[in-house]
Amino acid sequence: MNAAPVLGVIADDFTGATDVASMLVREGMRTVQVIGVPQGAAPRDGADAVVVALKTRTTPADDAVAESLAALRWLQAAGVRRFYFKVCSTFDSTPAGNIGPVAEALLAALGSDFTIVCPAFPENGRSVYRGHLFVGDQLLSDSGMRHHPLTPMTDSNLVRVLQAQCHQRVGLLGHDQVALGPDALRQRMAALRGEGVVLAVADAISNADLHTLAEAALDLPLLVAGSGVALGLPSRYARRGWVRLDADAARLDAQAGRAAVLAGSCSQATQGQVAQWRGAGRAAWALDALALAADAPVVADALAWARERLESGPVLIHATVAPAELKAVQAELGAARAGALVEQAMAAIAQGLVDAGVQRLVVAGGETSGAVVQALGVHKLRIGAPICPGVPWTQAEGRALWLALKSGNFGAPDFFAQALEWGGASQ
Ligand code: ADP
Repeated sequence: MNAAPVLGVIADDFTGATDVASMLVREGMRTVQVIGVPQGAAPRDGADAVVVALKTRTTPADDAVAESLAALRWLQAAGVRRFYFKVCSTFDSTPAGNIGPVAEALLAALGSDFTIVCPAFPENGRSVYRGHLFVGDQLLSDSGMRHHPLTPMTDSNLVRVLQAQCHQRVGLLGHDQVALGPDALRQRMAALRGEGVVLAVADAISNADLHTLAEAALDLPLLVAGSGVALGLPSRYARRGWVRLDADAARLDAQAGRAAVLAGSCSQATQGQVAQWRGAGRAAWALDALALAADAPVVADALAWARERLESGPVLIHATVAPAELKAVQAELGAARAGALVEQAMAAIAQGLVDAGVQRLVVAGGETSGAVVQALGVHKLRIGAPICPGVPWTQAEGRALWLALKSGNFGAPDFFAQALEWGGASQ
């Protein structure tokens, strides 16, 4: 029988799950991603890491805690020895949570009273300095994230943001301490713990910092992080003899079939990607949220439009709109209702596209990806090589269906074409 997986990741959204899984396979750990908490025991199929993809970023905090604890229990039963709560690299959350409540609940369930919190992913322009999160050269609160439809981020000070969500004390491991290396950092962590700090936001502005954090935190049962810190784990687990790294960890079956892109994100990067696709004269259809709310046959219209075109090349269906238009829609419908309507429509369109023979689907948006993957009845994903940092192609286990789930703010302006080229779709 195969050994138990070493690492269990609980991800608060689906694109975040593929992001961290991508990091682990890149560094040689065989990784599978399951959608939701599976029924029954985990199969011993040789995976070194299991990522449980939840859709808990914007649910009520109590629900997020309950689901995360269920995922923890399932991973514990699978024999996992280290746990990782994967949060967004832009720390997407609301004053009610859910990063703080879930982190506190997971720590308590593991009988632990301390961990580090670090969303940094410098390769993707996310760095943390003096506890402040930067997106490229901008503070988080100056970036496009301030306009996010569900989790607008208007404060860059993560210690303050997290403290507002927590019952217990939040502290800071500043860059000067991280720069001293793992031994000094471990001492500083012990000191903070002694002062009653339970969650310590950790600075990181480079991959070297992420490696320092991974080394210093190797014996902590739980990490709370974006995908960045995961880059330091595989080599260290291998050094301990817990895993044997596999250069082929990211291999997938060859892709074939019709292709489509669904964009349900209004993030800046996705705006640029939709604009580039349209600018190149490619087939694109804009989904109208107000028409959806008025019960117009939007899904049927989108599918009829797509069916006529799929034979001649990939199509894009997008709900992506500029901040002013989004505000107007939200003022009329309410942000939560508008978001749910658009997600349900995207999920139904995804189903219709797959029924129409689409086998390669690029989805932009974390919540959107969650809705789409659930609607498609996908339970397990194999993780392939990255298209860009944080976004791999994946394959639904046992099916001729390939999915690229892109966090809204990831990828260059030509990401959609890049993904489809990579997947071999007709251009
Ligand atoms: P990101 O990864 O950029 O955060 P998500 O898919 O997680 O993207 O979140 C975007 C949210 O905005 C979803 O709930 C989506 O349904 C909603 N949304 C997208 N387009 C519109 C629109 N035109 N009007 C209202 N809400 C929208």
